[in-house]
Amino acid sequence: MTDRIVMSLEEVDALVRHALEANGASPVQARAVARIVTMAERDICESHGLFRVPGYVASLRSGKVDGKAVPVLSQPAPSVIAVDAKKGFAPLALETGLGPLADLAHETGVAALAVRRCHHFAALWPEVETLAEAGLVGLAVTAATPMVAPAGGTRPLYGTNPVAFAFPRDDQPPMAFDMASAAMARGDIMIHAREAEPVPEGVGIGPDGAPTTDPAAVLAGAQLPFGGYKGAAIALMVELLAGAVIGDLFSFEAGRGLKDGGPPEGGEFVLALDPARFGHGRDWVARAETLFAEIAAIEGTRLPGDRRIANRAKTARDGITAKAPLLAEIRSLAGEPT
Ligand code: NDP
Repeated sequence: MTDRIVMSLEEVDALVRHALEANGASPVQARAVARIVTMAERDICESHGLFRVPGYVASLRSGKVDGKAVPVLSQPAPSVIAVDAKKGFAPLALETGLGPLADLAHETGVAALAVRRCHHFAALWPEVETLAEAGLVGLAVTAATPMVAPAGGTRPLYGTNPVAFAFPRDDQPPMAFDMASAAMARGDIMIHAREAEPVPEGVGIGPDGAPTTDPAAVLAGAQLPFGGYKGAAIALMVELLAGAVIGDLFSFEAGRGLKDGGPPEGGEFVLALDPARFGHGRDWVARAETLFAEIAAIEGTRLPGDRRIANRAKTARDGITAKAPLLAEIRSLAGEPT
């Protein structure tokens, strides 16, 4: 662990804000991104924590992202909230829309949020957890750039297209899963490439279309969906929800944009449901707990999200550990001594 440096969550948050503001982000955009990055570090989701900061900065420096964008909220239909991110980062646009989305879902039972023209680089569990903490069931999807081959194909077309889902619980954090529809998240393949470690079989194919465990070859070739055609169908659904339904880019269209190593332009679709408005009068939280207890009774199981929640206690106590070269790079981007 000699190449890792211990930091408090407050230090992580301050460093990210500093790096973004030093490169032209407004304090409010920088704060929203720093919050998301710090949450990822808090839960030890390294591929969406500090690792992403050089990319965020690159997209400010290239001018692709408007670091001073002010998201604009609208309500195009009685159950639909829309946020135009104005080409800023996704976290502030999501913060802008989630409160109104939750209010609407409590009122109508079902509501959707369309975040458009944002630059997304983060995990999706923060938004669905926010909804579940407000007593709602949340679902979120976003597309990306072409990285994943459709079933049977050898050329990338879909993004790694994550799906996140959260369900409220009694007196404890929500159950939430958040997963790429690719066999492995892009960030994890990049980390394997940086550390020259092979990826498992089934993660991707090289530029020649042949299966490979070389992460660099996968990055140059195509990732594969999880579960073959089943994961590919989920990736397709994500493209349709986050592209066609909300009126934003498909991954293959976003891939034509500026390649600066930062987050691509695209949208996010978020759905919120209030089970209390479904007219059955049953204690739906208790019903869910019955199912969770049945799962826990089977040896070897855990609920999705349990790893992250357990990590919170650890990082609150011990802080996080950041890789020294990455930290030096971010400090340099922030204009701080390394
Ligand atoms: P993982 O495969 O690591 O985990 C997927 C989900 O499965 C998590 O919710 C995880 O919970 C859960 N899980 C893992 N193991 C078990 C188990 N044994 N029992 C029950 N549940 C389990 O995630 P991915 O690598 O697919 O995705 C990582 C992140 O990348 C996601 O947050 C996703 O949003 C993000 N991403 C973002 C993109 C973007 O464009 N913005 C694109 C693609 C991905 P736990 O966390 O508790 O382990």
